[in-house]
Amino acid sequence: MPAIIDEEQVWEALKEVPDPELPAISVIDMGIVRRVQIDPQTSSIVIDITPTFAGCPALDSIQAAIKTRLREFTSQITVNVTMQQPWNTDMLSAEARQKLHSVGIAPPPMMGHGRAIPLLMGHPLTCPYCGSQQTTLENVFGPTPCRAIAYCDSCHQPFEQFKPV
Ligand SMILES: [Zn+2]
Repeated sequence: MPAIIDEEQVWEALKEVPDPELPAISVIDMGIVRRVQIDPQTSSIVIDITPTFAGCPALDSIQAAIKTRLREFTSQITVNVTMQQPWNTDMLSAEARQKLHSVGIAPPPMMGHGRAIPLLMGHPLTCPYCGSQQTTLENVFGPTPCRAIAYCDSCHQPFEQFKPV
């Protein structure tokens, strides 16, 4: 008799899986877990995730981290990558935005309905430290493909800007 796997508990467990590049934020808050399917016959879990930025080389580690975290439920875990509904930064939860802000990364502006607008065009950047919009985009290529480096002309601090997509 296979153990019964509770879907709620699986979602809860996934909230403890951090995004590899932004450890303050879980894969749930990032909005990348699309679907959890449980097959009670075989005690298996199938998770669908969607990649964030095409350039973010984190998919393998996300898949591995999800499998590790869910091992207590079953050893039969499949993590599929789906492109059906592309991820965009509007899918970040309110909590994720707050956490980004608290680690000094300006959250991406809301983009509306899933269109990719060229990076940071026409959106004044807001400094996560002082809230000023007197900011300069310094380097589109930040520490990861997801982030850019900006500089605040008001409080004279560099900050990271999460790129909207
Ligand atoms: Zn500032």
